[in-house]
Amino acid sequence: MKVTTPYDVAIVGAGIAGSTTALLYAQKGLRVALIEKQRERGAYKRLCTHFLQPSAVPVLKKLGLYREVLETGGVHSTMRLRTRWGAFNVPHPGTARGINIRRALLDPLLRERAARHPMIDLYAGYKVTQLLTEKQEVIGFTMQDDEAEPQDIHATLTVAADGRHSSIAKLAGVPTVTQANERFSYYAYYRHLPRYPDNNTQVWLVGEGQAYVAAFPQNNDLTLVSCYVPEKQFHEWQGQAEARYQQFVADLDNGPPLGEGERVGELMGMRKAPSVYRRPTLPGLALVGDAALAIDPLAGIGCSWAMISATQLVNSTHRALHRHPTEAPVAGTALARALQGYRLRHNLYFWPQFWLLSRFSRAKRYHPITRGVLLAAVKLFGGAFDRQRGAALPETPPL
Ligand SMILES: Cc1cc2nc3c(=O)[nH]c(=O)nc-3n(C[C@H](O)[C@H](O)[C@H](O)COP(=O)(O)OP(=O)(O)OC[C@H]3O[C@@H](n4cnc5c(N)ncnc54)[C@H](O)[C@@H]3O)c2cc1C
Repeated sequence: MKVTTPYDVAIVGAGIAGSTTALLYAQKGLRVALIEKQRERGAYKRLCTHFLQPSAVPVLKKLGLYREVLETGGVHSTMRLRTRWGAFNVPHPGTARGINIRRALLDPLLRERAARHPMIDLYAGYKVTQLLTEKQEVIGFTMQDDEAEPQDIHATLTVAADGRHSSIAKLAGVPTVTQANERFSYYAYYRHLPRYPDNNTQVWLVGEGQAYVAAFPQNNDLTLVSCYVPEKQFHEWQGQAEARYQQFVADLDNGPPLGEGERVGELMGMRKAPSVYRRPTLPGLALVGDAALAIDPLAGIGCSWAMISATQLVNSTHRALHRHPTEAPVAGTALARALQGYRLRHNLYFWPQFWLLSRFSRAKRYHPITRGVLLAAVKLFGGAFDRQRGAALPETPPL
């Protein structure tokens, strides 16, 4: 068995959460091992609607990647919500905008930047298969690629950034809360669809919020159009998803005119994507990104949360990690306290949002409070936005 010199931090998964965590720790001068089971540096998550919320922008700036993201193909975009009472932009103009950046561009950009950092060793093509523990504390893991013998990695802190189905969480027996998702979804790309004002992302809240449709503008004149439909309609869509998808979009008020664009690729479907909340720490182990909290894809927020949880973890623990000689047992030490701090921050920031958003996944009529908030937003922001621009925004896509 090959064993490497111990690292300060060993991260499983080099997606958005893992690469961001690695880069932020490396910026603090800590030595990081970053393990990714996919061998190709250009690997990326295929099923995503690619919207980065404004809350991700400060993290991109901290990583020194903001300009590069825009130069590589990121499109500034604000989300425009279209309710049955009117439309408004989120956030209100004047605050930062989000960015639509395809994962084919974002994931490799982050991973490549991590691979080039002198404090980070990227092990691509290795799958973590087992956790190493001592006195009920995680002290590292065993990883394996197709050809080589298993290899042990020891670290003061192990980080699970291995996504929604986190095998690390399962191996460690992390307590988990799951909320069902009562919608299924379909996604397709179109080229040359007419764009909406300011390249904004459009979201239609169909009926009383039981169903949703969204159009996400991307670079290269691509638009991703997604539908989220109540689960109880699944049998009607079965075997005729393509026709149903086209009709669903055509029935929208001022929806994207799919017939005017050129379809790129297959219709992709997804079903049974529950919201999952895991306890974000155990002794010697922290979870970030989807491994800690995977929310309904409808929210278009998981990538930004991956970056925020990475930031929370690094801010909470980097000082304690500097104080530790890498071999030392850590229970009851500064690091254990720092991990408690991360857990608290994570719970305070994410738990209320998890609670709220996972209720939207039930595909029920709006709660009276939600209805009130939407009505108020239409009244306050819808009007203000249009006035601020000097004219009412056209509700039809401009040609
Ligand atoms: C249909 C859909 C649409 C979405 N749309 C949006 C959106 O518009 N905006 C948004 O912000 N979010 C969106 N999301 C959510 C977003 O995709 C996730 O929140 C985000 O990918 C989480 O990043 P992550 O790094 O935590 O996990 P992942 O992206 O899943 O990365 C995990 C990484 O770990 C690696 N890995 C896994 N197991 C191991 C192992 N044992 N050993 C080594 N490596 C391993 C994987 O190969 C992968 O690279 C969407 C999700 C879906 C399903």
